[in-house]
Amino acid sequence: MDDPSKISVVIPVYNEEANLRALRDRLSPVMEGLRRPYEVVLIDDGSRDGSLAILREFVADPHFRVVELTRNYGQHAAILAGFSVVRGGIVVTMDADLQNPPEEIPRLIEAMEKGGYDVVGTIRRERKDSLLRTLPSRLINVVARRITKVRMTDWGCMLRAYRRHIVDYMCACREHATFIPALATYFSKRVTEIEVGHEERFGGTSNYSMWKLINLQFDLVASFSDLPLKLLMYGGIGMATLGVFFGIVLAVARLQYGASWAAEGVFTLFAVLFVFVGMQFFALGVMGEYIGRIYREVRKRPEFAIEKVHESAPEPQA
Ligand code: UDP
Ligand code: MG
Repeated sequence: MDDPSKISVVIPVYNEEANLRALRDRLSPVMEGLRRPYEVVLIDDGSRDGSLAILREFVADPHFRVVELTRNYGQHAAILAGFSVVRGGIVVTMDADLQNPPEEIPRLIEAMEKGGYDVVGTIRRERKDSLLRTLPSRLINVVARRITKVRMTDWGCMLRAYRRHIVDYMCACREHATFIPALATYFSKRVTEIEVGHEERFGGTSNYSMWKLINLQFDLVASFSDLPLKLLMYGGIGMATLGVFFGIVLAVARLQYGASWAAEGVFTLFAVLFVFVGMQFFALGVMGEYIGRIYREVRKRPEFAIEKVHESAPEPQA
């Protein structure tokens, strides 16, 4: 039976050999200081350096468990893999590069337990990243807020705490591309945020290239809305409407100025073309709508999540 008072810390690791020992040396005292059962689940996300070897040394401490993935699946998939094996009642996620100070974990747990929250997010105080790295994140934050309609200030910071039942719901979503902080808020109404510190990367370099960030952004948008498909459809409608107007303008001008105007009907051809191109985009958009629906079906995301069943006590047996 899982222990509800236990804290599980889930940390994805991808080529972090320079940081792992420092991470353990800072994390262990913090967790011991909480004076309650805990476990640290480290997921090796197909690292190509010595990370896995170091992680396997850690297992000598019974608090540490290591999940080894077969290849690199990406940060969010790695966290989900960690979620699938946690045993605690509260699950904390964080990065392995010490950008999230482990010393903030007790505050996270306190905020969760005092306020009775299901999800505790974090806002990075004075973020220590390059502009090239903060700008895309800001974009992600704006889009995420729009799409999920949850007022979270900072989505990117992975130092977060979740109650176990939220984690289990996330595990039940067998999706291929997902964005955990957004998914978590999908299942809960008791969400809060606290401010936490942010530090420079301890060693190594960021694993996120511009390309990976764009991909992540698309994961976020695509797994929470059909906006891109809808844009296609609206664009098509707009284009076809413009084409029709263009045609009307040409017809009127033709009656006014005679056939030699508008290059002997070449412009008319353009107007007709616009209408058709617009209609094609529209058709693509409609098809996209259906594909979007199929996509939502195959994601098999549960339609609802029951918090608790309220009922009167069962009748005593006579
Ligand atoms: N990570 C991972 N798989 C990946 C990329 C990153 O498990 O494919 C982990 C990485 O080891 C770190 C966390 O995700 O613990 C955040 O990565 P990183 O520090 O490179 O991202 P940034 O801080 O630049 O957002
Ligand atoms: Mg980092």
